[in-house]
Amino acid sequence: MCLRRDSISLRFTAAAKVFILFGDPVAHSLSPVMQNAALQAAGIDGLYIPWRVQSAGLPAAFESLRGMENFGGANVTIPHKEQAFALVDTLTKEAAAVGAVNTIVARGGRLLGANTDGQGFLRSLQEEADFLPCGKRVVIFGAGGAARAVSFSLAEAGAVELTIVNRTVERAQSLAEFVDRETGVSAIGLGPDDPHIPARVRDCTLVVNTTSVGLGPSDPPPIDPALLRPGALVYDLIYRPRETALLREAEKRGCRALGGLGMLLYQGALAFALWTGQTPSEEAMRQAVVDVIA
Ligand code: NAP
Repeated sequence: MCLRRDSISLRFTAAAKVFILFGDPVAHSLSPVMQNAALQAAGIDGLYIPWRVQSAGLPAAFESLRGMENFGGANVTIPHKEQAFALVDTLTKEAAAVGAVNTIVARGGRLLGANTDGQGFLRSLQEEADFLPCGKRVVIFGAGGAARAVSFSLAEAGAVELTIVNRTVERAQSLAEFVDRETGVSAIGLGPDDPHIPARVRDCTLVVNTTSVGLGPSDPPPIDPALLRPGALVYDLIYRPRETALLREAEKRGCRALGGLGMLLYQGALAFALWTGQTPSEEAMRQAVVDVIA
């Protein structure tokens, strides 16, 4: 069989392994084009497909994986990463610590939940911005599944202070307490109108957007850009659009601005290695993504 979509041809047989992306929505995701490129480059008889499912349907969807003989592996995206944590059979050390799952690996009919977001994020910071979190103050917008992985990995990598700002303040506070408790790094959770935010943003060297604000073409920046300090690094996990309003405004104010493409690539490469035991062609993965969003 041969399907052609975007820039890659998909070749697979009826014995193909099936890899799945669970999310709602999923149509924005570039994981299918990226992971299919990796499968093709590795010569694996497999196919990576999006499965849009609401939260209420996720338990049944996961149950169906347990009996699926040709299940190759899965990713989990918005808004299911925390729910997936509770639905898998076992967890990697990192997923257990983070409390969210973005990767599922088949283990003899059982589901192993892993989380590659944090490592993908740290690698992107280091390789694309030469940024090491050790000793740094960071402000993180958002407190969902991605924020959990980002906060935890920054704390583990030596950041000294985390400020977590979220629309639902209870979620920000609970994530801050979690980071504080698990890593010993000072963390505070604030609501979006908290008066401490301007000083915290001005004093930090890294601002990270982990909210989904920016996915829409007319979405405003998740913070007042006037608060950004020139020279700070502003990282938006969103990779499509490639340049969000936050990144545009950050550049205008003399900040360094980085989108989430590198994180997508590196977390995806780690997931691929967990599923297949092989190192994927990162070049093929990057090229497939760039071809679609260029
Ligand atoms: P999630 O668990 O659903 O969390 C979404 C977050 O966005 C929550 O903090 C939520 O706040 C906030 N939010 C949503 N709509 C908002 C609005 N209108 N105003 C203010 N805040 C809003 O999703 P996730 O898995 O963490 O993913 C978040 C984003 O990161 C997505 O855009 C995703 O594509 C991106 N991401 C990128 C990569 C990558 O590899 N580059 C990896 C993972 C995720 P509440 O708590 O108040 O609902």
